[in-house]
Amino acid sequence: MAAIDEQQPLHILFLPFLVPGHLIPIADMAALFAARGVRCTILTTPVNAAVVRPAVERANEDALRGDAGGALVPIDIAVVPFPDVGLPPGVENGAALTSEDDVRRFFHAIRRLREPFDRFMAEHRPDAVVSDGFFTWSADAAAAHGVPRLVFLGTSVFARLCNEIMVRHNPVGACPDDDPDAVVSLPGHPHRVELRRSQMADPKKLPIHWAFFQTMSAADERSYGEVFNSFHELEPECVEHHRAALGRRAWLVGPVALASKDVAARGAAELSPDVDGCLRWLDTKPDGSVVYVSFGTVSSFSPAETRELARGLDLSGMNFAWVISGADEPEPEWTPEGFAELIPPRGDRGRTIRGWAPQVLVLNHPAVGVFVTHCGWNSTLEAVSAGVPMVTWPRYSDQFYNERHVVEVLGVGVGVGARDFGSNLESHHRVIGGEVIAGAIRRVTGDGEEGEAIRWKAAELAAKARAAPEKGGSSYDDVGRLMDELMARRTFR
Ligand code: UDP
Repeated sequence: MAAIDEQQPLHILFLPFLVPGHLIPIADMAALFAARGVRCTILTTPVNAAVVRPAVERANEDALRGDAGGALVPIDIAVVPFPDVGLPPGVENGAALTSEDDVRRFFHAIRRLREPFDRFMAEHRPDAVVSDGFFTWSADAAAAHGVPRLVFLGTSVFARLCNEIMVRHNPVGACPDDDPDAVVSLPGHPHRVELRRSQMADPKKLPIHWAFFQTMSAADERSYGEVFNSFHELEPECVEHHRAALGRRAWLVGPVALASKDVAARGAAELSPDVDGCLRWLDTKPDGSVVYVSFGTVSSFSPAETRELARGLDLSGMNFAWVISGADEPEPEWTPEGFAELIPPRGDRGRTIRGWAPQVLVLNHPAVGVFVTHCGWNSTLEAVSAGVPMVTWPRYSDQFYNERHVVEVLGVGVGVGARDFGSNLESHHRVIGGEVIAGAIRRVTGDGEEGEAIRWKAAELAAKARAAPEKGGSSYDDVGRLMDELMARRTFR
């Protein structure tokens, strides 16, 4: 990397999609590149700047202290106004949308962010743009400025290949309409991937979304390459297929959460007031005895589902730490009989956390033995990195693909048997009984052969995950390879 020391540092502009699950890994990724001497700017709107700011500030403390002989460059956040598209003030993030109409307005705002993007490009001429795939217009915009666009999709290569197969072949289209249980295979995937029809997006029901996915795929194809929050050892066959069969270039630079300087402050300015007590409580619990439950930032569950989850936690016999979203949900609606005896002030078997939890910190606590997760890609990779096996409960997006990856390919989890694909806005999910949930938890944590194999694989995978971003690891090398390429390209501009 001598060439970089002798010249101006590389400058990468990051354009994250406006949802926490994409903003958080982009902030971590910027920290990771900044630690290698790259000048990084994150372009986003005021409310979303607050999501990336804690991680950015922690990363900048090293640069401002002059660590690494002053070679570290502080990360900038370029804050631009959220376009006026008729959404209420402060509603700038996908997690805050409550209707399909909001979603339409939100995507209108996403298109209008091209204007500040163009202005930034003209004024600063960065060496590359890491653009979220949802900003489809950035393929042409970056090309117009002569700058390579690197796509970030916020998912794994495994799920990215599943999506590509859907877009190209639409295997759901060949299924009978009236059979939600029909098994759909994804042809040409390097792994055998089979899902029920009810677990997949239906192009016929979502024609606008579907057309958008086609546009996304075409924009990715016109791009310089793709950066993934993943690592080679996690999905070697998929990386090879992505290169050989799709002819795409990929850099796997994760797990990026491992680059975060302060895992407690990641993703939110304020932690839930329940966190301190919960962390102290975790310290009192035996290793591996706690179920951690959290479903990310955009998935919500009906009172009937939540009630069964509470029963399942009770029936599992385990301790539990449960992040409950929608703090306004009236408790009596979902609290099953006896549950109040498990949590303070009456009991000590569990803790609930209303608001933001320091997820990475919790997952890495030795008391945590299993993670009940919706399989958002960040959560999945954070569990993999912490060596915590999973009970999988996918809802929509890439989550059913991630479940297949975790359960069938990696062998580090057990599913609860979720059958229905649908976001909070579009679908009704069948209720899964507490006995089934408890059964899945016991399969992972029990003394039997299955649980032991799962836990052993999780520990083995965690060691690989942690080694990847270290000096000499595969992700460390991919970052260096990408920097070298961008630097070499600069001399030809
Ligand atoms: N997260 C967190 N605390 C919370 C809820 C979420 O730190 O209370 C983080 C979590 O660690 C992950 C991200 O938010 O990094 C959620 O991303 P994921 O892809 O798992 O799910 P999504 O929210 O996109 O569905």
